[in-house]
Amino acid sequence: MAKFEYAPAPESRSIVSLRESYGLFINGEFTPGADGRAFKTISPATEEVLAEVTEAGPADVDRAVNAARKAYEHAWSAMPGRERAKYLFRIARIIQERARELAVLESLDNGKPIRESRDVDIPLVAAHFFYHAGWADKLEYAGYGPAPRPLGVAGQVIPWNFPLLMLAWKIAPALACGNTVVLKPAETTPLTALAFAEICQQADLPPGVVNIVTGAGETGRALVEHPGVDKVAFTGSTEVGKQIARACAPTRKKVTLELGGKAANIVFEDAPVDQAVEGIVNGIFFNQGHVCCAGSRLLVQESVYAEVLASLRRRLATLRLGDPLDKNTDVGAINSAAQLAKIRELSEVGEAEGAQRWSPPCELPVKGFWFPPTLFTGVSQAHRIAREEIFGPVLSVLTFRTPAEAVEKANNTPYGLSAGVWTEKGSLILWMASRLRAGVVWANTFNKFDPTSPFGGYKESGYGREGGRHGLEAYLDV
Ligand code: NDP
Repeated sequence: MAKFEYAPAPESRSIVSLRESYGLFINGEFTPGADGRAFKTISPATEEVLAEVTEAGPADVDRAVNAARKAYEHAWSAMPGRERAKYLFRIARIIQERARELAVLESLDNGKPIRESRDVDIPLVAAHFFYHAGWADKLEYAGYGPAPRPLGVAGQVIPWNFPLLMLAWKIAPALACGNTVVLKPAETTPLTALAFAEICQQADLPPGVVNIVTGAGETGRALVEHPGVDKVAFTGSTEVGKQIARACAPTRKKVTLELGGKAANIVFEDAPVDQAVEGIVNGIFFNQGHVCCAGSRLLVQESVYAEVLASLRRRLATLRLGDPLDKNTDVGAINSAAQLAKIRELSEVGEAEGAQRWSPPCELPVKGFWFPPTLFTGVSQAHRIAREEIFGPVLSVLTFRTPAEAVEKANNTPYGLSAGVWTEKGSLILWMASRLRAGVVWANTFNKFDPTSPFGGYKESGYGREGGRHGLEAYLDV
């Protein structure tokens, strides 16, 4: 099937007005860092420098934590829930009003297609604030006792794959429950968090309730290890998650970790193949595969292997890779040179270990960081590409014969974040779901997110839940 020719349909970036440089957002104001250090954030699609951002050192983190403490004690924790709710509703509405600007900014800084930032990320960001605004005055009905108390100051560290959405997952429940926060966005994607800081000003949020400290891993470490932090929330790699767990173990800090995944997307022979293929594509090529719950291991029942694979190859040949701001783009840029190097390395290991690599014909732009949609067949469970999180647009295909074998293979991973099951039999869905060791099991769909639905993992995918009533527990003293 040939690709239709489309004229370029770029979203205008004029709606975004970038500053040349950004300070830290502490106590309601943008302020310079104590030691004057800064770094540049670039567009991964073009390598163009977008802005200069302040690198926060320990003294800045200390200042931010103190501002959050003061705001916690004197303003936020004592405020009635219905008053806190008003701020959260206001923030949600401003996000909706500025949705186009935020979507363009996210695509510029992260490299993800505008279609995704516009239709998935930003609407979900607003939804998270609306949802948690609704909880702020109803916490006594959440099932955690008659007057659940907040924890205090939350130190939150987030990754680069869904920058503003991860911020919303962290900040909305924290504020709804009466905590104040200091958040560190990822080094490569700080811009939407800084735009969010402006939104806090626009919403007249009391100073110090939200503080944003930009920087790299060292800034994150200074934040999670700060003795003034009562609660640590982290999303990122399992390796850093383990370091944080070790650092917090001797303290009284409450910790939630949302880490990596190696999800199985399981297709049975009675599944509607076209629908399953869409789900497979969405599972691993959405957001360039930079998704902790990505369906990176496809398990296909042997009897339909040839049919599913042929269909999948045809579908991959129609994916459009290129300018993230083009509304027709399906696959955008890889977020950083370092992540591209990791994807390349693991793909080379896949070939060296004997799996067969395939990509559709696909021209890669010369500048920026790009990787074509890639399939590996002939993959065994021992291969590194079947065991390690690649965090890129790379799918490993394995087969199975019986449901029991599918369960065994799906669970044969140190992770346990998500899984997908494709079959027309409801009984088989339930049978599988009760045996898969995964925090989320999607049936005949994949990568569906909703603020009302708890999300989180088993085993090395971390602990704690985000979203829904369950997610409130992480921010309450219960
Ligand atoms: P990291 O875990 O290093 O980054 C996540 C966040 O933690 C970033 O804000 C990072 O800062 C910060 N950080 C780094 N080191 C520390 C530390 N010692 N203490 C506190 N905070 C710290 O992920 P990477 O970006 O390095 O990605 C590496 C791999 O991790 C990916 O290839 C992927 O496999 C996995 N990953 C999983 C994610 C998920 O959602 N589960 C998300 C991102 C990555 P900074 O970015 O500035 O270094």
